[in-house]
Amino acid sequence: MNVKKRRRLLLATIAATISWLALPAAAEVRVFSCEPEWAALAREIGGDRVEVQSATSAHQDVHYIQARPSLIAKLRRADLLICSGADLEVGWLPVLLRKASNARVQPGQVGNLDVSKIVPMLDVPSRVDRSEGDVHPYGNPHTQTDPHNIALVAAELALRLERIDPENAAYYRQRASDFEESWGKAIVKWQERAASLRGMKIITHHLAWVYMTHWLGIEVVGHLEDKPGIPPTAGHLAELLAGIGDQKVELIVRANYQPERPSEWLSERSGIPAVVLPHAVGATDEAKDLYSMFDDMLDRMLGARKP
Ligand SMILES: [Zn+2]
Repeated sequence: MNVKKRRRLLLATIAATISWLALPAAAEVRVFSCEPEWAALAREIGGDRVEVQSATSAHQDVHYIQARPSLIAKLRRADLLICSGADLEVGWLPVLLRKASNARVQPGQVGNLDVSKIVPMLDVPSRVDRSEGDVHPYGNPHTQTDPHNIALVAAELALRLERIDPENAAYYRQRASDFEESWGKAIVKWQERAASLRGMKIITHHLAWVYMTHWLGIEVVGHLEDKPGIPPTAGHLAELLAGIGDQKVELIVRANYQPERPSEWLSERSGIPAVVLPHAVGATDEAKDLYSMFDDMLDRMLGARKP
């Protein structure tokens, strides 16, 4: 190789190195989320420094999924696990954790973010008693329907990412601060829109909306499930119908993955509109991210309500 060629090769190598250094940083932290709403939040806070997988989609009933080998493989590689907790995932997460044998994401580690330990829990029973239903022995795990809880988890998520990936700490802190600001503004807007819903009475399929109803001052007067996790029975639905009487119940609410028959049965006989609300990102076509999930939740309640 002559000198000229050698120099050209050297310059090309230097140029390639510089352009490689100038590339955006590759994802540093692998996040494994049990539910799509926390996956969406991890993307909000982690931006392009995180690679996020969700174990479930909004079309699945997260109380009951299979601990598939593909999920074990993903959890094995994860740096951070984020789940609703309070035994919502008790049927599958302990199996995944055991089989993945990944020390970084075990309970008590910085890489294990249990939402039920971050947000104020509602419906916490004074004693654990599964005779009261199949699920929710440690309080209601469906915490994502109050945006204040999302804000609390966002702040904790940023702290965890900073500890796991200190080099990018400033980046996570900035994104968390931007999110806090825009989310706070969105909450004010949602509360203004929902003001007329205060005091409204509703019936819900599963006990999945207590955080949203607590937030907006909506009253839940009954559930299609007799006990959480036990499918609605004809006897219980008939009792519910008889119990409505002259109470002004305005909506029957369910999630997209729940069967429509019980809602429709009660709606036809009572004249109360039945509505599907997005409980997670992806649960309706409109709920594309966390912001549009709450937009759509309000749109659907305001729209389904009789004038
Ligand atoms: Zn539940």
